[in-house]
Amino acid sequence: MHELSEPPAVRAPQSARIPLQSPASALRCPVCLGVERIGATYAERSFGPGTSMTAIAESIADDLGFCERHGLGLGLGLGLGLDAARSTRIAHAFAVAIARIEPLLHESVVDERCRRLFFSTGRRCPACAADDSAAGRLLAPIRQGWLRTPDDAGELEALCRHHFQSLASRLALEPRGRAIQRYLEAVEAAAQELTRSPDAWMARALALIGQEAPDEVIAGAPDPDDASRRMQDLLAAPDACPICQAIGGARRHWLQGLRWAGEHGATEYLWLFAPCCVRHVAEARRLGNAGLLEGVAAFALAGIGEQLRQQLASIVHELALSQQAKPVWHRPRRRRRDKPAAAAVPARRRFVLCCQGCEAEAIALERTCAELLECLRKPRGRDLLARGHGLCLRHLAHLLPIAAQDTVRVFLRDLHLARLRSLQTALTSGHGASVPWREAVHRFGGWPE
Ligand SMILES: [Zn+2]
Ligand SMILES: [Zn+2]
Ligand SMILES: [Zn+2]
Ligand SMILES: [Zn+2]
Repeated sequence: MHELSEPPAVRAPQSARIPLQSPASALRCPVCLGVERIGATYAERSFGPGTSMTAIAESIADDLGFCERHGLGLGLGLGLGLDAARSTRIAHAFAVAIARIEPLLHESVVDERCRRLFFSTGRRCPACAADDSAAGRLLAPIRQGWLRTPDDAGELEALCRHHFQSLASRLALEPRGRAIQRYLEAVEAAAQELTRSPDAWMARALALIGQEAPDEVIAGAPDPDDASRRMQDLLAAPDACPICQAIGGARRHWLQGLRWAGEHGATEYLWLFAPCCVRHVAEARRLGNAGLLEGVAAFALAGIGEQLRQQLASIVHELALSQQAKPVWHRPRRRRRDKPAAAAVPARRRFVLCCQGCEAEAIALERTCAELLECLRKPRGRDLLARGHGLCLRHLAHLLPIAAQDTVRVFLRDLHLARLRSLQTALTSGHGASVPWREAVHRFGGWPE
């Protein structure tokens, strides 16, 4: 159904143009690869000798620490080559960040600086922001190259969906539509090939989703969740934020459902569980079920395709409104009578790209916040939280503005001010291995297991 011109290298895993030793890496999004290469030196650039602590402390304070992925990277020392000097520098940066945040906690939540901290929607982890600007630099020549020679879309089609969207967002309306049409055809071709020959096309499908090749070593999935823990236990846990724990539990519960669908070949129910974001597809891969991964990849590609079609429709509509000539590149979708390639997608259901892993976590966040606030209205709930670890700053920022103004908000503020102060003292007075910098990473960014 696609007028496929000469397929680009990325479309043919068995092509002679791809070195046999590393077919998988040749199939990865070039920008993902570049960002990973540059990102590997992030810790060195931010916390290495001779770096300024002021800038990194500022972004730690403004962005409330690191996201889960980068927080894990720092916490476990991945790629850090942790030495005493560096852990001291990380500790120092967090101590300075605490000094910046502390006065804001004294303010009312309607204070402008405080509002920026607690209601900020554009909050980005400093390491993610660095990844994005690296991606922007890597995408610029690909975008310019494609604009010069639009017939040669090999590099454009090699991009993962996330990096393709970043590239497309910087194009004017008409070329954006052309690029999306081209990329859509590549996604549809990959989805079709995946159903015909999953082994040969899995790497390509995963590259479009933004994943590494399937031969990468992946750690095992977490054990199935023990029965969901009661709020009292979560509140008093000594080493983790209760909301982070609840989200971790929701994630394990979701994975259990996905595992069940995989083990019982319940592809018709897969859409109830299937992930499509990079993070949760990675979680699904850890289940180690090849058939399930095929279904997940097909689901994600179908979702990407649908999202691109919706974008195209609105671009074509906008072009028509501005009375431009009908774009020659536009090929409206042909209705097929036979069964669609992705059996994972429910028939006759308007497809909305929605990662079920993200959905499960979002529901857990809202539910736990409501339950937690209810508990904190009673002295026993406040007492339990005061005995436990307390909230991470990310979740404190989520909860504080919605907490009842009187007792609960004052309690949360005073409790966490005290926690931050004692952490700051430990960070500045410790030396080498005794510096609790891991705790600082957890206290800021949270720690969903
Ligand atoms: Zn990418
Ligand atoms: Zn990050
Ligand atoms: Zn948390
Ligand atoms: Zn997700």
